[in-house]
Amino acid sequence: MQHQHGMTGLTVLGSTGSIGTSTLDVVARHPDRYRVIALTACRQDEVLFGQCVRFKPKFAVMVESDAAARLKQRIADAGLETAVLCGVAALEQVASLPEVDAVMAAIVGAAGLRASLAAANSGKRILLANKEALVMAGRIFMDAVRQNHATLLPIDSEHNAIFQALPAGYAGSMSDSGVSRILLTASGGPFRSTSMEDLKNVTPEQACAHPNWVMGRKISVDSATMMNKGLEVIEAHWLFNASADDIQVVVHPQSVIHSMVQYVDGSVLAQLGNPDMRTPIAHAMAYPERIDAGVAPLDLFKIATLDFVEPDFQRFPCLALAYQALRAGGTAPAILNAANEVAVEAFLNREIAFLEVPQLIADVLDKQPQDIVDTLEDVLAADAEARRLAGEWIRQ
Ligand code: NAD
Ligand code: MG
Repeated sequence: MQHQHGMTGLTVLGSTGSIGTSTLDVVARHPDRYRVIALTACRQDEVLFGQCVRFKPKFAVMVESDAAARLKQRIADAGLETAVLCGVAALEQVASLPEVDAVMAAIVGAAGLRASLAAANSGKRILLANKEALVMAGRIFMDAVRQNHATLLPIDSEHNAIFQALPAGYAGSMSDSGVSRILLTASGGPFRSTSMEDLKNVTPEQACAHPNWVMGRKISVDSATMMNKGLEVIEAHWLFNASADDIQVVVHPQSVIHSMVQYVDGSVLAQLGNPDMRTPIAHAMAYPERIDAGVAPLDLFKIATLDFVEPDFQRFPCLALAYQALRAGGTAPAILNAANEVAVEAFLNREIAFLEVPQLIADVLDKQPQDIVDTLEDVLAADAEARRLAGEWIRQ
């Protein structure tokens, strides 16, 4: 899968975000291995310009046209050769270029679906951080990967841990591999032990202050509601062909064990490490080799204790809603995801309260008829309708 001189051609979708910048940090440590072909962002032209100066990609994509115009000017003034493209179609284009071997899919939310899918359709090695794409269109995504001989490697720390703890070459049958359960760990987020009464008044700032990880705002709120874990249950279902009953969420506040696989003989295999996304990123980028990720070695004596508790579905109804959507199947996970994206945005804009996030999602799931999924259009239609209903809920 490597191109000329053994270099891997890399596109980073969402390069200005938390995962994107961690990816480029790993790339910078291995200039002999990776050549950046394309970088993309929504509207942060200053950050993207800095990345263009440093990594000299062939292409830079800005989704927003004003930002694209500014970037074009800066690139010209600096005498760089990077071609600036604009708009959503360009995201798919740079995910499919022949000189691209691997695509880091790190756009947040449903906005990343088409570009992540384009990487699958063109048979790339997909380093998937954009979990929402799998939640929305799991069957379509996994079919595209299989039919086009793409390679799908999980970046989400839990799924990367599970991938590492499963037998090499795991082909999608837990029973054939002697696997009895997937133990998906969760930190519990910033409100793990906050009372229901206090949850009523939490602010976006409090929700975004995660105890163990520094992340984008959307996933930070998802971690606070535990919808992130719910989305990850659905993600694990598609990645590992595990049923809802096969996936047990384990609250583990230290975030040292990133997840575990339980086998029929009683063995439990875990992957441990400091909570630093550069570990799963480097793992997936170099797989099956191992490369330096710039991550400090794990100091077990400093950690000393690891705790485990059962998830609280009463205080974190989003987790129950995600299990419910996974069991319902069809368009239900896409509806869940779209309603959640609208709810999170509204919470961040102080339009709804924290505890209204799960209420909104539950109401949209109740109201919107759920359908089977045959095509991408079915998914996109369900997504659009859920966003419409969620908007109505907020304005009601
Ligand atoms: P972020 O908000 O920090 O970055 C998002 C990136 O996507 C930015 O580059 C932004 O320009 C781009 N983007 C945003 N909206 C866009 C749009 N409409 N069209 C095109 N590009 C757009 O997010 P993040 O925390 O890096 O998360 C990215 C993805 O990785 C999410 O799906 C998240 O769930 C997943 N993930 C993140 C972490 C983490 O530690 N941050 C861990 C596991 C999984
Ligand atoms: Mg995760």
